[in-house]
Amino acid sequence: MKENLNPFAIAQAQFDEAAEVLQLDHDMRAFLREPMREFHFTIPVRMDDGTTRTFQGFRVQYNDARGPAKGGIRFHPDETIDTVRALAAWMTWKTAVSDIPLGGGKGGVICNPREMSQEELERLSRGYMRNIARYVGLTQDVPAPDVNTNPRIMAWMLDEYETINGKREPGVITGKPLELGGSAGRTPATAMGGLFTIREAAKLKGMNLNGATAAIQGFGNVGSFTHSLGQKQFGLKIVAISDEFGGIYNANGIDFDVAAAHQRQTGKLMNCPGTENITNQELLELEVDILIPAAIENQLTSQNAGNVKAKIVAELANGPTTPEADNILNDKGIYIIPDFLCNAGGVIVSYFEMVQNGYQYYWDEAMVHERLDKKITTAFHAVNQMSEAKQVDTRVAAYLVAVNRVAEAVRLRGWV
Ligand code: NAD
Repeated sequence: MKENLNPFAIAQAQFDEAAEVLQLDHDMRAFLREPMREFHFTIPVRMDDGTTRTFQGFRVQYNDARGPAKGGIRFHPDETIDTVRALAAWMTWKTAVSDIPLGGGKGGVICNPREMSQEELERLSRGYMRNIARYVGLTQDVPAPDVNTNPRIMAWMLDEYETINGKREPGVITGKPLELGGSAGRTPATAMGGLFTIREAAKLKGMNLNGATAAIQGFGNVGSFTHSLGQKQFGLKIVAISDEFGGIYNANGIDFDVAAAHQRQTGKLMNCPGTENITNQELLELEVDILIPAAIENQLTSQNAGNVKAKIVAELANGPTTPEADNILNDKGIYIIPDFLCNAGGVIVSYFEMVQNGYQYYWDEAMVHERLDKKITTAFHAVNQMSEAKQVDTRVAAYLVAVNRVAEAVRLRGWV
């Protein structure tokens, strides 16, 4: 049978498995497996040539029982409502497993930002905010950057929101430029958080991180910071990295600065001096201690999971492993750090950004990373202990911790 790769079907299948182990009653299951609220809207944008194009936008507030919804906004030509729903569900479990007082949301626009000018992008960003302004806010829903959106776009959206509401309210959006109330340490936060969880998993496996080999798929925000910080601060030997065009390999380790400079110059990693080219498929199947998918979803499937040789799979990307692949990796005894735990560093520091905006007093990067370490390490061990206590794999354990917390908030509110 062909694998179902619809991300929301996968998110629901994962939830159903956890609900079964938790013996959640029927009514709670029915409530938690669907988003609470969705907004679908059109955004007319005046293009530079004078024509008007209509874009389709979404915002999903999956669950806000534990606090205001929280989640990024993606600009992508292949965006679908089911992708946004799945990511909003994962944000709900991510904020819960991290034990920060927020719910889960996500937004998206079907568009190709690579084909748009900065002026067109600004009009689209402001138009998006005009559509959702009355439904977002510090106490309702707090957006952030995600695929193809960045601090510049957040600044336009923040300005539109504050103009509509006639007051300054920086905490309504996170991932802002530092000058407008962004947090130190936000940009590398996802990678840093993932590396803290890798450090803890390595301890459990009796693996010395200094000199341990790793392969990273994806060289964007998350992948490139994982390479640079992993090499410089954790002593990892990164033997393979890749982008959408293909990967590069060197058994003695790839120097981050050389690879980054080559990518800046040529737009690709391939043909980097001192390395040999490999495919993304070959990268996933390399003989390494740690495999780090940090690109896109559905990369480890029933087709290739049997060939994975790593001892730890650290899912910095969202949804990189299909449920079938998950079973195969677990049967092989590979330790999986599941996505919504491994990549929670971004939202944890977004929460710190909201806190700092609240009292307009800002921490330095060392303080941000120290507090991130404490939060994500606590979450890692809560999941690992659940996995041992219930004899379930780490992904199910992460769901058990998260779903328990959300269900308890729903019960206490008397919703179900
Ligand atoms: P990005 O757009 O900056 O980088 C994505 C990278 O993946 C690029 O190097 C691109 O070339 C590569 N890529 C794209 N398609 C590929 C393919 N088919 N095969 C191999 N590589 C491919 O994105 P990012 O912010 O680094 O996010 C990467 C992943 O991490 C996504 O799954 C995202 O949802 C997740 N994530 C990001 C954050 C964050 O703070 N940025 C937080 C949590 C989760």
